[in-house]
Amino acid sequence: MSVTPKTALTIAGSDSGGGAGIQADLRTFFACGVHGMTAVTAVTVQNSLGVQGFTEIPPDVVSAQIKAVADDMGVDAAKTGMLATAEIITAVASALDEVHIGRDADVPFVVDPVAASMTGDALLREEALEAIRTELFPRATLVTPNLDEVRLLTGVEVTGRDSQRDAARALLDLGPMWALVKGGHLYDDPECVDLLSDGIQHIELTGRRMDTEHTHGGGDTLASAITASLAKGLGVPDAVDEGKRFIERCVAEAYPLGKGVGPVSPFW
Ligand code: PLP
Repeated sequence: MSVTPKTALTIAGSDSGGGAGIQADLRTFFACGVHGMTAVTAVTVQNSLGVQGFTEIPPDVVSAQIKAVADDMGVDAAKTGMLATAEIITAVASALDEVHIGRDADVPFVVDPVAASMTGDALLREEALEAIRTELFPRATLVTPNLDEVRLLTGVEVTGRDSQRDAARALLDLGPMWALVKGGHLYDDPECVDLLSDGIQHIELTGRRMDTEHTHGGGDTLASAITASLAKGLGVPDAVDEGKRFIERCVAEAYPLGKGVGPVSPFW
């Protein structure tokens, strides 16, 4: 009989194209050697050309999924992706409290505040931003916004490494233990520098900028690789470092698919 692996839960939306969302999260959990579990929040209709629409799952069903897996299988770390509506966010926050997942419990919780797809399609109703700020950030061990999400959540416009620090401070003011400000969208920078901060430590993680347009699911894959490492017991700086190495290899192996943007790939 085999040993039970560590478990990771993703609370996120489905991508019918298989590139992002829960499909990317499960693939990443598998590649990182943890058992993946899901609380589906929304079903998107999408392909490589963009998101054609989505239907959200009733909030009580989202929260029932979280409680069902936590009560029985246990959760070593959890993450959120697409959450769609303020009502779902409220349900997620109270379910997490009930099963003791979050920064003040022993179970690490990563919030990837997904607002839109890289094709510009909204994945979050506008009024839900405030719920992310007030209900999820204070419960988070780590938040992992890209620069568009930083601007939407804090108003800070990141234009370079100095303003990455301002962004981290503004994010930490909303209550998470750690903030990772991803610099991948600073296209003038020849490197991809992400800033990880808890307000005391400011850790710059430098990566190669790679020449590919196929980066669909990149943010989800990074957040779930970090979550997998947290599930295995790594501290936040080490987990983020591992995640960054993982996503670099996935971007290096990204492949074309369909007529639009292909996904990052964990096949290596
Ligand atoms: N679809 C779903 C369900 C997602 O969760 C995400 C990202 O989190 C996306 C699409 C967008 O992915 P990308 O911005 O990499 O295109």
